[in-house]
Amino acid sequence: MGLPVCASAERGRKMTETFSIQTGQVEDSIDITEQVRSLVERAGVERGLCQVMTLHSTAAIVVNETADPNIGVDVITALSAAVPKRNDWRHDLRDDNAHAHIKASILGPSELIPVSDGELLLGTWQGIWLFEFDGPRTRKVVVHVLAG
Ligand code: ZN
Repeated sequence: MGLPVCASAERGRKMTETFSIQTGQVEDSIDITEQVRSLVERAGVERGLCQVMTLHSTAAIVVNETADPNIGVDVITALSAAVPKRNDWRHDLRDDNAHAHIKASILGPSELIPVSDGELLLGTWQGIWLFEFDGPRTRKVVVHVLAG
């Protein structure tokens, strides 16, 4: 788990921070809720929006239940069933990781989460996943909080 690698903040109005996460496997799911939550609290924004985005094209950010880590495993299993690793993908001629790009495209690179009373507004069972599809690697996550 890395420390923020860059930061800019105007406390109470907006904040942008980037932190790094080392994934552990070729395909992986990591709960990053607490890292994001602590950055939102530090931003001091009472009401607004928090965008969480990964800066990579073979990783994804998803809001879903993180209390059971098997949900992350099941999502990876479902995507692997839907997207075969070998399928004469054109990108494999160049980079050999087309399936990872496709899986990341299906889930998407970011989520937008309301901020209320200075905290992330998530459901009881909702958390924030980082999904890795071409690891293990060091992945950057940007957290942008804007008052409004
Ligand atoms: Zn590629």
